[in-house]
Amino acid sequence: MTVLISKRLQRIAAQIPYECSVADIGSDHALLPTYLIQKGIASNAVAGEVNKGPFEAAARQVKQSKLETRIDVRHGDGLDVIQKDEVDVICIAGMGGSLIVSILSAGMDKLHGVKKLVLQPNVAEERVREWLDDHGWFLSGEEVIEEDGKFYVILVAIPNPLVEEHMQKELYPATLHLPCGVLVQRQYIMLMGPYCLQYPTSDFFRKWEWEMAKLHRVVSQLSQSEREDAGKKKESIVQKIKDLEEVCLCLQKAQP
Ligand code: SAM
Repeated sequence: MTVLISKRLQRIAAQIPYECSVADIGSDHALLPTYLIQKGIASNAVAGEVNKGPFEAAARQVKQSKLETRIDVRHGDGLDVIQKDEVDVICIAGMGGSLIVSILSAGMDKLHGVKKLVLQPNVAEERVREWLDDHGWFLSGEEVIEEDGKFYVILVAIPNPLVEEHMQKELYPATLHLPCGVLVQRQYIMLMGPYCLQYPTSDFFRKWEWEMAKLHRVVSQLSQSEREDAGKKKESIVQKIKDLEEVCLCLQKAQP
């Protein structure tokens, strides 16, 4: 029987090309690789896990599904579990953006030959976008989805062909002029996403309403704080909320 996976994992699976070999780093129960093989999407997979419990759960899942010849469950940290030129696609999903960036940075030599990265940071997605831009990866797509009241961002990147040719490092402009008239600074391009800003969806708008509500709560906490730096922090968050509101309002006005 085909394994049941969440909408989030289904959207990640939709980014995997047919007949590729894929490494799922931080695979936990190996649900994604199991699904990819059962659906005939990937030809073979590596499920990498650093923690013993999830590693054992992954091995159990693969054994139960009788996919031991197609999915290799490996115990190890980040990209240590794969060889250079071994896989076409690497997925890293369901962890913080900073951890994803540290896994990619520590395993840079293993990215050789990789044709696609599918990354799903639970938080700090801007760090992942910055890392991709700084390390020769072109963000080729992104998506915001909502599932069970939580928002997830899926980032897809391919090696940036411009890097070798022109040694151009940063692919994204310092500013982005939205059709609705607002000029978005790089900081917000990285935070909200260049594609999401150009093609905002209802899930994107709901995510940013949710993020702004969270920031408003931080502002009211800071208002009651006696810490010396509370005033300054509050000021910068209030400004951030204003900037985000301006972008969202402008995008909403331009919606058909
Ligand atoms: N990728 C699955 C998903 O998206 O549903 C599981 C996500 S789970 C919340 C994160 C998993 O990453 C955990 O099982 C954890 O043990 C694993 N992990 C954390 N750091 C890791 C690392 N450096 N290398 C490999 N796995 C790691």
